[in-house]
Amino acid sequence: MGGRSRGDEKVAYDGLRTHCIRCGTCCKNNPPTLHIQDISILKDNIIMYSDLITYRKGEYIYDNINKKLINLDEEIVKIKTKGESRECIFYDAKDKSCKIYESRPIECRMLKCWDNTEFLKFYQKDRVTRFHIIKKDSAMGEIIHEHEKKTSMDNVLKLYYEYKNTKQDKLRKKINSIISYDNAVREFIQQRTGAKKELDFLFGRPVLEILKDLGW
Ligand code: SF4
Repeated sequence: MGGRSRGDEKVAYDGLRTHCIRCGTCCKNNPPTLHIQDISILKDNIIMYSDLITYRKGEYIYDNINKKLINLDEEIVKIKTKGESRECIFYDAKDKSCKIYESRPIECRMLKCWDNTEFLKFYQKDRVTRFHIIKKDSAMGEIIHEHEKKTSMDNVLKLYYEYKNTKQDKLRKKINSIISYDNAVREFIQQRTGAKKELDFLFGRPVLEILKDLGW
């Protein structure tokens, strides 16, 4: 991985910022969502599956641009944060640099915190899904597809809110069986392939974790 600092560009600061001054704000607040243009970085193994997390269709995530929670109408794949923070795993806080600077994703190249005009036109276009990275007809692709069908977030959240309003036991059982299936698939893949850090990319966040965030 390259090690050139982000913001090595000449800094011009004449009242209005026109260049990156390496404050690190963008890297500390929301890692990039990947776009089709970033697939080559994955092919070159600069970014690995274990560096990624999938947010599935129907999930609620915080939209850093509009500063509000949004319901995803399509899945997205992002670079992970460090633990519970919002800081990108590739940000070197000590050096104020990006560990993959030369190969950083397109959102990082386009984001100019002093002028987001171009970024706003671009950021919702050509987003990568898991099936841009993993062939749908491969063995893993079929497992992901089946998992998505059985644990779709649209359905899980519908059941959850229905249960919250009615407290019907049959709904609780349905939700628990989806949670069990989700856990079983993750365990199976971990045992068969050794994948662990990759699971958040392959299957998104665990269903139980998502529901716990909502108060399950
Ligand atoms: S990939 Fe690099 S430039 Fe992009 S948010 Fe992470 S640390 Fe910053």
